[in-house]
Amino acid sequence: LVILGIETSCDDTGAALVRGGREILANVVQSQVAVHQRFGGVVPEVASRKHIENIGPVVEECMKKSGLNYQDVDVIAVTNRPGLIGALLVGVSFAKGLAYALDKPLLAINHLEGHIYANFLEHEGIEFPLVCLIVSGGHTSLVYMRTHGDMEVMGQTRDDAAGEAFDKIARFLNLGYPGGPAIEKAAQQGSEGVYHLPRAYLGKDEFEFSFSGLKTATMNLWTKLKKSGQELNVNHLAAEFQAAVVEVLVEKTVAAARSRGVRTVLLAGGVAANRLLRERLSNRCQETSLNLFYPPIALCTDNAAMIASCAAYRLELDKPAALTLNAYPGL
Ligand code: ATP
Ligand code: FE
Repeated sequence: LVILGIETSCDDTGAALVRGGREILANVVQSQVAVHQRFGGVVPEVASRKHIENIGPVVEECMKKSGLNYQDVDVIAVTNRPGLIGALLVGVSFAKGLAYALDKPLLAINHLEGHIYANFLEHEGIEFPLVCLIVSGGHTSLVYMRTHGDMEVMGQTRDDAAGEAFDKIARFLNLGYPGGPAIEKAAQQGSEGVYHLPRAYLGKDEFEFSFSGLKTATMNLWTKLKKSGQELNVNHLAAEFQAAVVEVLVEKTVAAARSRGVRTVLLAGGVAANRLLRERLSNRCQETSLNLFYPPIALCTDNAAMIASCAAYRLELDKPAALTLNAYPGL
């Protein structure tokens, strides 16, 4: 069974063909980073317009790379929530048109559930029940998953998402956009512990997150140091900031897994590309006898292969969407 996935929830235009839920035949992502870079963040209206320009060529390129033709596609899967409404609508409208023209079933996919399936694309033998940390540009959530399609949110962020905090701090420190990779790069040339930033654990056995306090503390510290005329080292600050985010993510994820008595932990979303997070979570999972899975770096950020893979499992659970399918900005 071949599924064509389409993803336009934020600033990446993606199309992918996946066979049997696991075999990537083609995976094309057209990034808009260059367009949004000069604004220091994604401009929603610009993103929608770029998706309109890109979606046709991206799907065409995906078909060409796979060597298949449209009649070989069995199902069309599209992200319809959550995300930027104008951006989502481009993918949803395109997918509806294609499903109608080809007379193929259409499936609506939740973008965050899609992020989780980057793991199922890559790894065989992931055992349920499990706990997944979804950590991305717009979300930071701990999810308990009994089986495919059966999920419960254990906790999420009360304010900024982890990726959002990376992006805002990188912008504040003039490190560039997108912020996650920029902070990671700076941090590699610095050391954590030179500066001291707070870790927000909130309550004990609390699976919610908060990153806005850390963000403010980082900005305040930097401003204070600047005013006092002390020697400044942006790499040390980046390293301490990254360590503070990673420590809280790691400890809460391990605590959540233990509270539910699961043996499997998944990491998903754009921030899952962070090497320190991958390394520290690996170490903690090893110490506590948890099996950790994370996607290859290229499948952590937005792509359509994860959407097509998710659809392969959703196919047994959901009825096909009608051509009246809509897009929704929220969960
Ligand atoms: P959502 O998935 O919540 O709708 P999104 O799709 O915009 O949001 P993703 O593409 O999943 O977000 O992830 C992008 C985020 O990941 C950005 O905030 C980016 O800074 C962050 N990110 C990417 N690479 C890294 C990295 N190496 N270290 C830390 N953060 C990273
Ligand atoms: Fe995403």
